[in-house]
Amino acid sequence: MQVNLDQPVVNALNPNFKKERKFSFLERIYLPEIFKGLIYTFKQMFTPKFTYNYPEERWSPPDIFRGRPVLVKDGDRERCVACGLCARACPPLAISMQASEVSDDPKERYPEFFEINMLRCIYCGFCEEVCPEEAIVMSKDYDLVFQSREEAIYGKDKLLVPKEDLKDRLNYLRNYKNSQFGNTWDFQEENNIHSVRDRDREWNTGLSLVDLLEQQSQADSSQAKRFWKT
Ligand code: SF4
Ligand code: SF4
Repeated sequence: MQVNLDQPVVNALNPNFKKERKFSFLERIYLPEIFKGLIYTFKQMFTPKFTYNYPEERWSPPDIFRGRPVLVKDGDRERCVACGLCARACPPLAISMQASEVSDDPKERYPEFFEINMLRCIYCGFCEEVCPEEAIVMSKDYDLVFQSREEAIYGKDKLLVPKEDLKDRLNYLRNYKNSQFGNTWDFQEENNIHSVRDRDREWNTGLSLVDLLEQQSQADSSQAKRFWKT
């Protein structure tokens, strides 16, 4: 068949293309097609539901889920030591903070303010990945609402979450992330004195720095020897 490509035609490579647009009588009155659609809809009413009546019914994500990043509150203070690694690793530059020191202990650092711009956050989890203190983790919160750009900047008041409420994610990280330590990365311990992972590698405790210090203060000398090498 000779195809004239200069002329715009419908499906010019199909020799029967002229018949393609012809409807039968039943197709032209549309009623059979409408009934077919109604029967399909009726059948769906008896199939299992995979949807939630949100927000009355809420989905509970698995531990691997990356919701909004939050700061871990350990007791009455944050775990964060304001090292700035998370802000450095954050691809869209969503994190900003200012470090300060506790007046009676100048070695103890904490973030005077810590902000995450949730309009920028892409939930990548890099901040959680690089944090040496398990101080910032991805929570299960997925429904964020704000009415202005200012409201979307979360400060410590919105970011701090007690560690008890983040137990699932912290356990997931310890089982999954910490066990990989040393296989992929090789941090220099002398440059990373706060590292939970370094402590884990040496002592294999599975505890965070704050947990270690808490346990040390609570335990008697015989118990402490199990974890602290002399
Ligand atoms: S999840 Fe990613 S984008 Fe969001 S604050 Fe953390 S590093 Fe930044
Ligand atoms: S990486 Fe962790 S400890 Fe360092 S500033 Fe970020 S949240 Fe704080």
